[in-house]
Formats: sequence, C-alpha cells, structure tokens
Amino acid sequence: MQDLKAKKSLGQNFLNDDNILNKIANSIDTENDLIIEIGPGMGALTKKLIKKNSYLIAYEIDERTKPFLLHLENEKTRIIYNDFLKTNLKEDIKNITYNRLYIIANIPYYITTPIIEHIIESEIPVESMVLLVQKEVADRFSAKPKSKDYGSLTVYLNTYFKVDKLFDVKNTCFNPVPKVDSAVVKFTKKNNEYNIDSVKFSKFIKECFSMKRKTLKNNLKKYDFTIIKEILLENGYNESARAEELDLDTFIKIYMKIVK
Ligand code: SAM
Repeated sequence: MQDLKAKKSLGQNFLNDDNILNKIANSIDTENDLIIEIGPGMGALTKKLIKKNSYLIAYEIDERTKPFLLHLENEKTRIIYNDFLKTNLKEDIKNITYNRLYIIANIPYYITTPIIEHIIESEIPVESMVLLVQKEVADRFSAKPKSKDYGSLTVYLNTYFKVDKLFDVKNTCFNPVPKVDSAVVKFTKKNNEYNIDSVKFSKFIKECFSMKRKTLKNNLKKYDFTIIKEILLENGYNESARAEELDLDTFIKIYMKIVK
C-alpha cells in the first residue's frame, strides 16, 4: 500500500526508524495493562504496542488511515476515529479490566498542551505516559524556576507527574522530515496528595503567568494579597516576586490558601 500523503495541518510526521519505535514501545513493561495511543497514523508504533500483551485503544482523527489500521483491530485492540480532544476517556475505558493504564504516543505537536490538559482533566488513573514531543517543549516540561522555559505548563505538569527526558530523536527519523528535533519524555504519576482540582489549578497557574514580566501581585489582583504575601515571605521570596521565580511547592501553597 502506498504511504499516506502527510497533512501538515494534522501534525503528520510519520516515524520510520525501527530502532526508535522499539525503544518507545519498550520504555514501559506491560502485562494485562491498558495502553492508550494518540494518533496511530499508519500504525508504525501501534504494531509494536499490540505485541505488549495488553489492551490498546488508539485515537486517530484522520479517516484516511483506516486501510492501514483496520486489520490491526482485534478483541484487545480498538481504533477510535475521533478527535482525541473531544473524547470521553473515562467512558471509553470503563468496560475494560486492566492492571495499569499507560499512554504511549508520537503525538501531533500542534496540540501538545491541549492533549496533556485533556488527559489530566479526564481524571483517568494514568500510571505513566511516554510521549514523543518537540525537543524545545520537552525542555519546557522539566525547566527550573527563573529559566526562560519555565512557565505555566511546567508548573501544571509537574504537579501531577515526575518528568524525565528519556532520549532525543533526530528529525531525519520522520517522514516528512520536520523542521524541529524531538525527544521522548516519560511522565510518572505523582500521588496528588492535596487532591488538587486540575481545571481550577490550570486556570490559577495561567493567571499567575498571565503577564510574564509583571509581579504576582499584579497578575493576582482579584485575590487577597495579604495571604499571598505571607506565603511568599515564609518561602524566601519577596513581595514583588514574579511567577517565573516560584517553585512548585509555593504555587501549591498559594493555591491551597486562596483558591481551593
Ligand atoms: N503514530 C504515527 C507515527 O509514529 O508514525 C503518527 C504520528 S503523527 C506525529 C500524529 C498523528 O496524530 C497523525 O496520524 C494525525 O493524523 C493524528 N492526529 C492529529 N490530530 C489529532 C487529534 N486531534 N486526535 C487524534 N489524532 C490526531
């Protein structure tokens, strides 16, 4: 069968390096688990994941991929032709009995943040995720305070997951060759001990970073600053601190006091 003509608008860069595909598929040991894949495309990674002796649900928006994927479906493998961002993940997995839930995917880069937000906000019990993402974005995921890459996405993600970059992937491993390099990142679930509501927390963190050069006092005008100031001082910051300086714990402390 002839390869699909890639659609740029759908982030289609197909991975054609067998070694990288194996490394991604083998980055997690699975046995009677459930794996979710986002964007199977022509099935390069899907074929590796099917061998993992687990259930697999793959979401693909482009129905032109059907001829490549239909024959991969069986009693443990299901392809859902839908926009991943519009799926009800809880509903889709509710009848499957599995040990652990993993997400493994070469995702479309143009919706990296919405994909991650959708996963966290779905409140499905993800054990860990292995995602192939744009290298610059991978750096943003694990950025430290005060660095240029540190932003709301870093804070949000690290609240729910421990983030580890596994390895880089050269752009020549894809067809068509993208302009950017990529990296595989592993996210391991933290035990959300404060039971932080993901939707409210995401909104709050975006408010903190809404104007990057402004102080928290400015960005959080609608809240009582005396409480925020107290937490800032207790944690070694001064009252004119900016969001980009704060560590994760301090964001959580402020959120717990003024939003929750
Ligand atoms: N997994 C394949 C591989 O590694 O070669 C394809 C990866 S390609 C980077 C991203 C895939 O995501 C494409 O097949 C594209 O059609 C699909 N995609 C794009 N937007 C999507 C969405 N909103 N929901 C589901 N799939 C989407």
